[in-house]
Amino acid sequence: MSIAGSVANAPREAVLHGYPVFQMFTTSSRSWLNSKIDSNASSEFRDMVRRNSLEPFAHIPYLCNPGSPNGDVYSKSRKMLIDNMGNCESLGIKYLVVHMGSHLGKGFDEIGDRLTDTIMHALRRSTSTHILLENSAGYNNSVGSHMKEIGNIIESVGDKRVGVCLDTCHAFAAGYDIASKKGTSSLMDEIEESFGIDKIKLVHLNDAKFPLGSGLDRHWHIGKGHIGMKGFANFFRISRLTADCFVMETPENTDGDDHTNMQAVSKIMKACGIEDYAPKG
Ligand SMILES: [Zn+2]
Repeated sequence: MSIAGSVANAPREAVLHGYPVFQMFTTSSRSWLNSKIDSNASSEFRDMVRRNSLEPFAHIPYLCNPGSPNGDVYSKSRKMLIDNMGNCESLGIKYLVVHMGSHLGKGFDEIGDRLTDTIMHALRRSTSTHILLENSAGYNNSVGSHMKEIGNIIESVGDKRVGVCLDTCHAFAAGYDIASKKGTSSLMDEIEESFGIDKIKLVHLNDAKFPLGSGLDRHWHIGKGHIGMKGFANFFRISRLTADCFVMETPENTDGDDHTNMQAVSKIMKACGIEDYAPKG
């Protein structure tokens, strides 16, 4: 949901569309600058969330590279994480989705400690915000495309306030064949071994524009990409997810795309007999 004009715009739009769960940025998605949240907007936000029993999630801006081998980007990213966790506190948002960035060719072993240190540092500066590490598509030295890598970070940080956001497009692009029952089952086994399924608090439900293992982070309309309607049905039937929050990050090329994607999700979930999850919008 967009925060154009005011952060309170996000819950307002969610209510308008009948979405019980939504994701937003708390500041500009493509800038290092953190815009301070106005106290009136923040109370309006909290009121709307409470009155409508909404579940808000925040996403860190794209520039953040919390374990970057580049000193300047590293210190800016640490500040960005702290600022964004502060924004979440003032808005009463429990979970902040964080990308693990890129090791810029140095390898995970080189930057693992820096990344862990940033997360621990940020957690110490915040009292209530939880961090959800999002799996990546694996392109361009990105960190965290494999569950074992995410598990390593969670273990080194050793804090209950670190969980996981599972992105279906990224998992597929990283080579996990979630469109098949067998692939979904082996992903679930790997998650179980690496950090545990209950650590997943949010699912980014996106189809993939490119084939299995492409490494490309290109989200596509639900059912119309390489995962497809049948693939999502396999995923829902086999995945042993305990998370009950899902958001889509699908493109909106023409008006009404969000609605069409939401209907596709509804259809899949109904076919799988999971009416509880069926979106209202
Ligand atoms: Zn995502």
